[in-house]
Amino acid sequence: MYECRSAKRFFGLLILDAIVFSLCAIFFFIGKSLFISSADEKKENSVFLPVIMYHSVYGENPEEYIVTPVQFENDLAWLAENNYTSVTAQQLTDYVNGTGLLPENPVMITLDDGCYNNLSDVLPLLEKYDMHAVVSVVGQYTDVTAENDPHIPAYSYLTWEDIKNLINSGHVEIGNHTYNMHSFKGERRGCSMNPDETEEQYSELLRNDLNRLQNEIHEHTGTLPIVFAYPFGFRSAESTPVIRELGFSITLTCTEKPNYITHDPDCLYGLNRYNRSGFYSTNEFMERIVTR
Ligand SMILES: [Zn+2]
Repeated sequence: MYECRSAKRFFGLLILDAIVFSLCAIFFFIGKSLFISSADEKKENSVFLPVIMYHSVYGENPEEYIVTPVQFENDLAWLAENNYTSVTAQQLTDYVNGTGLLPENPVMITLDDGCYNNLSDVLPLLEKYDMHAVVSVVGQYTDVTAENDPHIPAYSYLTWEDIKNLINSGHVEIGNHTYNMHSFKGERRGCSMNPDETEEQYSELLRNDLNRLQNEIHEHTGTLPIVFAYPFGFRSAESTPVIRELGFSITLTCTEKPNYITHDPDCLYGLNRYNRSGFYSTNEFMERIVTR
């Protein structure tokens, strides 16, 4: 009798387990398919945009943050041959606001830090392939470092005159890469918020720094950047209200993922970028970044 009852109980529990398991499996697959379809839908209704991040372009010895002019030219030639069109920050901004269109295969070319070789070595190639790029400068590098030691492709930064020449070429837009927060100072990483400061203190510090560079760029060139590149990609959520208040429509990070551009202007805050390491061949790098 006892055995019979426990066998019944055993089979009862077994059936219950099977039911619970089946329900879990059903919910799991329904949830998964909903998730996949919403992700696919997002991709379907958006424009795929890889963004490339370069820094220095000179010489013959590639490094993690240095590509040679030959590599840079091979990259542009690959993009042209594969029907990619480099888009400007203004085109992207117009597209999300519903006032402009994007080409079929857009790509965004960005260069950080404002190296002098962006004028001496990069601009002639942008002109040759009729491509566009955003060069994000650090105020202090231009104000102090470049003025003291200009025009050496290996290490100089862009002077104000150089920046004007880049803008006047029609192939380059200037971005803001902070006036003087491109460093690890104490606990602060780039322009991120320190744990020991209030949001008000941080906002004021960031506002003053970014505004100083905006004002200087405007003073020297008559233009006002709409792109902000986070130094080293360090980004605090508390920076966003300041970024919006200062009129930037695009911010750039260093997260290596593609972007899916919609008609929601918010999608341009925190664009992902692929660092173009000099250790890759053009084919290796390009195949990686055009994978959807
Ligand atoms: Zn940088």
